[in-house]
Amino acid sequence: MTDASATGSHTNAECEALDTPPEAFTPSAERGVLAVFPHPDDESFAAGGTLARCSEAGVATTYLCGTYGDMGRRLGRPAFTNRESLRDVRTAELKEACAVLGCNVRFMGLRDKCVEFEDPEEVARMVRAVIEELQPSTVITYYPGHGVHPDHDALGHSTVLAVRDMPRASRPRLLARAVGDRAEVLAALGPAHVASDILAVRDRKLDALRAHRSQTEVMFAHWEDEAELDDQAKAFREEFTKTESFYLLDPDAKTLIELAL
Ligand SMILES: [Zn+2]
Repeated sequence: MTDASATGSHTNAECEALDTPPEAFTPSAERGVLAVFPHPDDESFAAGGTLARCSEAGVATTYLCGTYGDMGRRLGRPAFTNRESLRDVRTAELKEACAVLGCNVRFMGLRDKCVEFEDPEEVARMVRAVIEELQPSTVITYYPGHGVHPDHDALGHSTVLAVRDMPRASRPRLLARAVGDRAEVLAALGPAHVASDILAVRDRKLDALRAHRSQTEVMFAHWEDEAELDDQAKAFREEFTKTESFYLLDPDAKTLIELAL
């Protein structure tokens, strides 16, 4: 065993951190962008700034939303909806948010909190049909295994399968958002490959998030009380109004979901 610091060599992650700044996301280079996430509000949290930048540049953007989010724990603050009406409320909120972002919406109609119990190949076929129809140059989803929520991991995994099954020449670029503890993500995956500077559209991202009133009122109320915010909450707020970072996924590489089977 040689000492890496003595020989001047680095691990892959260290090399990337030292030598390779993330590639800038450039809307003008896109033909179309498709976001694939399971819940109303994921599009705004995970990629709202990037979708807004694309629509501003005249790039067709579509959000393929897996579920209606009707099993969400939050019902407003104070509660203004209930389990029966939440589906309609969240559907309307999503349409409003996507109007703010300049993004089309489609629903897959999967059951909320149950995506992991679907046949991944069947879900992949549904995603692939939309990719083949819209022919986006980039597809954005959650990093399977780093989505934190089982629905996020499951739909991210099926989106990888959807692209894997396409002929190489017609595959879109596949970008993934890893969520959760930043230090853990960095340790596991290294630095992100693509960075989207969203500062110029931050107000549109925040307005889209506000449109998801039943889910985000609590968060905005929390943010308004500066004295209550810890450093991690401040860092989180800063991060998602400045840069959206993505990992480039190789659809032929086994996902963490497959490796865990
Ligand atoms: Zn979600």
